[in-house]
Amino acid sequence: MFENLSERLGGVFDRLTKQGALSEDDVRTALREVRVALLEADVSLPVARQFIKAVEKKATGAAVTKSVTPGQQVVKIVHDELIAVLAGEGEPGALRIDSPPAPILMVGLQGGGKTTTTAKLARRLKERDHKKVLMASLDVNRPAAMEQLEILGKQIGVDTLPIVKGEDPVAIAKRAKTQAALGGYDVYMLDTAGRLSIDEELMAQVEAVRDVANPRETLLVVDGLTGQDAVHTAENFDSRIGITGVVLTRMDGDGRGGAALSMRAVTGKPIKFVGLGEKMDALETFEPDRVAGRILGMGDIVALVEKAQATLEAEQAERMMKRFTKGQFNMNDLKMQLEQMLKMGGMEGMMSMLPGAAKMAKQMDGAGIDDRMLKQQIALINSMTKKERANPQILQASRKKRIAAGAGMDVSDLNKLLKMQRQMSDMMKKMGKMGKGGMLKQAMK
Ligand code: GDP
Repeated sequence: MFENLSERLGGVFDRLTKQGALSEDDVRTALREVRVALLEADVSLPVARQFIKAVEKKATGAAVTKSVTPGQQVVKIVHDELIAVLAGEGEPGALRIDSPPAPILMVGLQGGGKTTTTAKLARRLKERDHKKVLMASLDVNRPAAMEQLEILGKQIGVDTLPIVKGEDPVAIAKRAKTQAALGGYDVYMLDTAGRLSIDEELMAQVEAVRDVANPRETLLVVDGLTGQDAVHTAENFDSRIGITGVVLTRMDGDGRGGAALSMRAVTGKPIKFVGLGEKMDALETFEPDRVAGRILGMGDIVALVEKAQATLEAEQAERMMKRFTKGQFNMNDLKMQLEQMLKMGGMEGMMSMLPGAAKMAKQMDGAGIDDRMLKQQIALINSMTKKERANPQILQASRKKRIAAGAGMDVSDLNKLLKMQRQMSDMMKKMGKMGKGGMLKQAMK
């Protein structure tokens, strides 16, 4: 489900996450593509606009965390916003079916999957919630529809109201109500007639049924594949009948998932369930976070961020390696290494990246580096000027004093750090001389 939208957004985010830093322009460009993707996925224009605006506002204002790129940040914001738009209040899939017998009115156009969904939901209520359910078909125009519900009822072991020829929908609804009360049913479901399109006669009929049944839930069943039409249908039914929720069917097909987004944004009604096939168990609770993940085509956003980060780090490492092998290893590099170590939880992480460093660490003063020390060393580097970081040899005694004081440490600590940088630099040079097949290169693979 949602393949089209997934692929589009996936492509956009692939590009985003490969960049180290994003300018405001980049964010805007990316969001333009997100907008196009949303429109192609049949999200309505106002909804797409509104969505992009919300994301842009959040993306522009948001502080970019050190450990993620702005691209990843945008992904996260898009993801969170999708959930915000998709989510309704309360438990997903929750139905108000207290005070038995609780009536559930099923409405929708013909062919949307109303009868199938009625049976699926009855089965779910029976199996999952242990409710005693009665189903009644009100489709007096199509005897086949009544029989269809009866057959499905037998299949899932749920009672159906006996068919009485010549009865009108309102009379059937009343009979269902009486039967449900007498028979001790928890829930009774009214499967109303559908039409190929919305017309006055249909609406008047559903309205009359609604008035006698006084339903606790009125669920609109719409074909998720019809995109914008599904949203218009929902608007129509809601303004005339008043719906409490939506069931999107055929979400197992390669539908354009935008319907879900527009549906929620336009009608304000929760999508309670999605139909995922013709079988009786192919009904699922609508889960906003899961659907948002699917829309993004990234299933699990956390996994994506991690993956993107790994790519980025590999690229960074490669760039660094190129410089190191030329004998360039300054305080900026050391700072990056120290930060890396902090992130990886100390010396071990670094060992895996730089073979030979283990031996060095033992030789170096201040072996047994812990987090506190790493932070102090980073603070020392931070108190240096840009020039000094790039070229620490230029440091004079007076500057050393100032730098150490600036970081709240002794000159001896700074000297240790400088020695460490020199040793690392030497080591890198040696590794660089080993050439293309060298140790460092191998280790970076
Ligand atoms: P109604 O006219 O609205 O009552 O529609 P039906 O319940 O008769 O369904 C019409 C067709 O759609 C049937 O062949 C169903 O099996 C099929 N259908 C219903 N829901 C789904 C769904 O979620 N996925 C798929 N693939 N088919 C569905």
